[in-house]
Amino acid sequence: MHQYECGNCGLRSGKYLTRFGAERYGKGHRDKKHGGMFPINEGILTYSGQAPQAGEWRTIVLVAAILLIGLASKLV
Ligand SMILES: [Zn+2]
Repeated sequence: MHQYECGNCGLRSGKYLTRFGAERYGKGHRDKKHGGMFPINEGILTYSGQAPQAGEWRTIVLVAAILLIGLASKLV
C-alpha cells in the first residue's frame, strides 16, 4: 500500500495499491495546492504486506547468498 504525504499541508492521501497511484495523487495535489512546485517534506509512504519491489529483491538475494556461503564454508 502506498500513500502520498505532504508534510507542508499535513495531509495524507488515501491508500493506493501501486506507488504510481500515490504519485499521481501527489502530482494532482502539487498542481492544485502548490502551483506545480514540490513542497518540502512530501513523500510516498509504503506499507508492508505486499510483494517485495525490485530494490528489495536485490537485498533478499544478497542475504540469501551470504547465508548460503556461510553454510557452505561450515560444510567444507
Ligand atoms: Zn501540500
